[in-house]
Amino acid sequence: MDNNVICEGCGSILQTEDEKEIGYIPKSSLQKKNLLCKRCFQLRHYNKHETVSLDSDDFLDLVSTIRDTDSLIIHLIDIFDVDGTLLKSLPRIVGTNPIILVGNKVDLLPKSTNQRKVRNWLFNQAKEAGMNVLDVFLISSMKSYNIEELAMEMETRRENKDIYVVGVTNVGKSTFINHFIKRSTGIKEAITTSYFPGTTLGFIEIPLDRNSALIDTPGIVNRHQMAHYVSKNDLKIITPKKEIKPRNYQLHRGQTLFIGGLARLDFIKGAKQTFVCFFSNEVPIHRTKLENADALYERQVSELLSPPDQETLSILPPLVKRAYRLNEPYTDVVFPGLGWVTILDSDVTVEAYSPKGVNISIRKSFN
Ligand code: GDP
Repeated sequence: MDNNVICEGCGSILQTEDEKEIGYIPKSSLQKKNLLCKRCFQLRHYNKHETVSLDSDDFLDLVSTIRDTDSLIIHLIDIFDVDGTLLKSLPRIVGTNPIILVGNKVDLLPKSTNQRKVRNWLFNQAKEAGMNVLDVFLISSMKSYNIEELAMEMETRRENKDIYVVGVTNVGKSTFINHFIKRSTGIKEAITTSYFPGTTLGFIEIPLDRNSALIDTPGIVNRHQMAHYVSKNDLKIITPKKEIKPRNYQLHRGQTLFIGGLARLDFIKGAKQTFVCFFSNEVPIHRTKLENADALYERQVSELLSPPDQETLSILPPLVKRAYRLNEPYTDVVFPGLGWVTILDSDVTVEAYSPKGVNISIRKSFN
């Protein structure tokens, strides 16, 4: 191939040999009018740049270069899936650089949620993960909630340094970055990150001033996220689009709740009480007798108990069970990526099921 042919997006020399190397273009695309390397093509058309896998060897090498910089880190997470999106390896990646933890998608929490409790909880989660955070912000990239406040804080905290935005895929990083592109360029309509030159590491720099930039890093794939175990269609159903309406179930012990067919909660011991369910309004919840639950699942998974659809069913790991004894009132049983159930009383035993690899957790309720 002619050595002088360059990508119109990033200016790298185009090549058709190695997909993993800079400037790769599939042979079939060479006939096109606008020549773009695969990466710029994806950027321009999907407004996404490459993702890296958390368990791949290249990952740490790639992103850990942040450790050698002097910068401010914005760690963007999805407050609806903290277990799946809070990067436990962040301190190793960013070294001693200061971190602001930003919980996105706050618009999905019911209005009754106590945001102060959510922030405190996030502070604690970060601390447990060994992360020393300067501050915690709750924002909605989609609804532009609290973004200006965060932007102001970023400006004071960065002390003229670069800002790196780090996050797992699907937390809303593209939506977030687009806000800052609009802010820094003053252009009102949505433009994409493809307007900015990328570096060889897949980092994209959006200038903040003459000497510093907001740097978008590749989205990180965390294999333990529910999102990777479901079909595109099911992901749409389980991802809440608007404020979650809590659903109440009066349960006796010996009863079971199915969350579609993706999770299950058995009420083993405790007085009759209300279980408050926080899941996407489109996910059906089904109540049944514990003694019938196995048979119902066998017969009805992907039918009455859906999602999963057939496509998800072919990739979904089997449901695994864990027992929990809850000694405190107002405890949440959290199914990462799906939602949670608040149990109001203490002295309760439940058994909770989730797909193997997507670990359930317990926390004090926000309400
Ligand atoms: P990325 O993979 O991290 O770049 O995430 P995207 O920006 O593509 O967003 C992933 C999904 O989350 C999309 O369906 C967005 O519409 C949605 N999303 C992003 N930000 C928000 C938010 O603040 N609230 C809600 N409810 N959804 C959001």
